[in-house]
Amino acid sequence: MNENHNFKVGLYIRLSRDDGNLESDSIVSQRSLLNQYVKENNYHVIEEYVDDGYTGTNFERPAFQRMVKDMELEKINMVITKDMSRLGRDYIGTGELIEKYFPNHHIRYIAINDGIDTFLDNTNNDIAPFKAIMNDMYAKDISKKVKTSLHSKMKDGLYVSGRCPFGYRKDPSNKNHLIINEEQASTVQFIFDLALKGNTYHFIAQELTKRKIKIPASYYHYAWNTKSKNKCISKDLGVWVDTTIKAILTNQMYVGDSVQGKTKKINYKLKKTIKNHPKDYIIVSNTHDAIIDRDTFQYVQTLLPKNVKRPEKKRFYLLDGLLYCGDCHHRIGIRYQNKTGRSYTTCDYYRTYSKYHVCTTHNNNYETLEKVILENLKEVCRKYLDKNKIKDSIGNIQLDDHLVRIRKQIENLELTNQKLIESIDHTYIDLLKEFIDKEQYIRVRKNLKKEMEKNQTTIDCLKKEQSFENQFHHQEIEKYVDDFLSIENFTRKLIVNLVERIDIYQDKRIDILFTFQNTP
Ligand SMILES: [Zn+2]
Repeated sequence: MNENHNFKVGLYIRLSRDDGNLESDSIVSQRSLLNQYVKENNYHVIEEYVDDGYTGTNFERPAFQRMVKDMELEKINMVITKDMSRLGRDYIGTGELIEKYFPNHHIRYIAINDGIDTFLDNTNNDIAPFKAIMNDMYAKDISKKVKTSLHSKMKDGLYVSGRCPFGYRKDPSNKNHLIINEEQASTVQFIFDLALKGNTYHFIAQELTKRKIKIPASYYHYAWNTKSKNKCISKDLGVWVDTTIKAILTNQMYVGDSVQGKTKKINYKLKKTIKNHPKDYIIVSNTHDAIIDRDTFQYVQTLLPKNVKRPEKKRFYLLDGLLYCGDCHHRIGIRYQNKTGRSYTTCDYYRTYSKYHVCTTHNNNYETLEKVILENLKEVCRKYLDKNKIKDSIGNIQLDDHLVRIRKQIENLELTNQKLIESIDHTYIDLLKEFIDKEQYIRVRKNLKKEMEKNQTTIDCLKKEQSFENQFHHQEIEKYVDDFLSIENFTRKLIVNLVERIDIYQDKRIDILFTFQNTP
């Protein structure tokens, strides 16, 4: 009791609107609680500090500042509050106060309702919630320090990741330096070779699996096996997946540059990482030996989007595949934009090499463009085109396989018959020259005639079929053209048959090249 009496106590009371309307938090009830406590424990109160109407999220409070001054002047050496939140709601600031300031100034602090007493053993369970906050703070601080040091290493081009990119291993003489792993590197080269040939990720993955080439994970699993209990897993992991192929083909590490800082931890508390924006990657050139030369790598990067086998097209565009850039003559692509719910066109060449300014955007709202082009098509057709000419030209283009086959067959049979007639003539000459007798001549002639008649029957049949097909075919074309000239709705088939290509210029000029313009 006497010991307690040696403490010069300051009672701190705080109330603010953000504390809510709890009666127990009122100045009166805080004061009565504190007074009861000091009386029971025989503490000697020097001063009472009251901040009425001040938030706990900072320490800019007059009574609190006065109390700090009194601590500095050693007027008081003990502070008692109802609970920790009276002292402050800023855990970090409050933590500083309790873990650093108070001990440094030999101040004893008690938060009655929280069971905190800084003069008791620090491992006391009562102080645990507080410790947690402190640990939190330290953890944050430490994590920040580690991050900055890794960052500076990355900027120096030192390899800091624990795991090497596939194709490399750590230099035994320098753990921040990569050297080539020959076995894996040859796989990397093989993958690039396949990509150069225009293969899709999927094809490459299948090819590697087929050839029983070891997948990257199998190497890592091997290393982990000493720790892992699942030793048998690695044996089954022989299947290459598309994403692995993609990751390898787009990894700039293979040209000898170190690319780091691709991910960052979102919080020091969580293991979870998020991807950094590529502009935030830390790239240092020529930090290790290249597996793929720069030109090849760059070329593969431009190739990859085209290698990707397009999934079933989500949207159908009437003019798809017909649009070309009038300025650079590459294709104009149509893309659906989720954000706006509209489709836009862009010059593919511009899009692929946008940073080299090889072309301009040729950006148009697709729907508008389509409307304009269709109106144009219709108008041109109505005004300038002879219906019969269109029919003929479409007819030529549309001559389908079946009709072509029939025509070929007829031609062949007619040619054969022509030769048979020649043979009969020859045989007759042989008769005249007395190489053969009359009997022989009649027999040969009969056989040849029979052959010719058989052929002629086939020709007649084929011609019937041909005329029927042609008629049907022409009816179809007639319908197309009529449709086209009259209807509101175009069909894709019709447009493809009529239009060779459409050139779009940056200045919004449009050239339509019709298929029949080429027909003599
Ligand atoms: Zn272009």
